[in-house]
Amino acid sequence: MLVSAKEVLAKAKNEKYAVGQFNINNLEWTKAILLTAQECNSPVILGVSEGAGKYMCGFKTVADMVKAMVESLGITVPVILHLDHGSYEGAKKAIEAGFSSVMFDGSHYGIEENIEKTKEIIALANSKGISVEAEVGSIGGEEDGVVGAGEVADPNECKMIADLGVDILAAGIGNIHGKYPANWAGLNFEVLAEIEKATSPMPLVLHGGTGIPADMIKKAISLGVSKINVNTECQIAFADATRKYIEAGKDLEGKGFDPRKLLAPGFEAIKATVKEKMELFGSINKA
Ligand SMILES: [Zn+2]
Repeated sequence: MLVSAKEVLAKAKNEKYAVGQFNINNLEWTKAILLTAQECNSPVILGVSEGAGKYMCGFKTVADMVKAMVESLGITVPVILHLDHGSYEGAKKAIEAGFSSVMFDGSHYGIEENIEKTKEIIALANSKGISVEAEVGSIGGEEDGVVGAGEVADPNECKMIADLGVDILAAGIGNIHGKYPANWAGLNFEVLAEIEKATSPMPLVLHGGTGIPADMIKKAISLGVSKINVNTECQIAFADATRKYIEAGKDLEGKGFDPRKLLAPGFEAIKATVKEKMELFGSINKA
């Protein structure tokens, strides 16, 4: 069974750890993340971008696959199926398809239109017990075609959006999607502290978790971040492990070309990455 992010993240906020959101792309990704969460006795958020949703044949295919997998693998830790950076139409479709949480990313609208549309999505989601994440101040880098400028969010705007009744708030604090450039200025903890003060006890989200140094992650959690999104890091781990397998010529030995063998090193690499993040975020044994 899938659960809303609301209670899971309220507990995380209260006990000062963060729950990882790991984006999924296919069956192997989903299975690797679910099994790791179960082994670590950690709650987990499966993130699905609109692009990944299309790739996997639509939100219904994704929701049905995840639900069936949770059942057949005997997963008992809390699992949240969350739409990542949803558009207005996309959020409605994910709610319809059976997701248990949606992000409505209205950060590219002006604040007034963002508020109007966020309210509509909240009303629809709440009627079905689905949690809603909103974003203030676009997050830098590129995510599935959505390009953000990397703004630092205005704490007053954060409070305005939080007061609409969203369950989770993503606020830009200098974080960006994808790999961080060498000259990256780091997270803006002063603004994070102001946002926390303005919106507490709202669980805050840190997008772009790949490549943020461990000490910054820990500090962000201590300042109110309860959900951290990791996407690129699993992709890199999967690609590295798959490349090593092929470069070593293993696909040419025996039945090494069998996809169940070919994809196994990447699968294990995702598991190791997810476990490492759960340790860093402090979510192990918090299911
Ligand atoms: Zn993001």
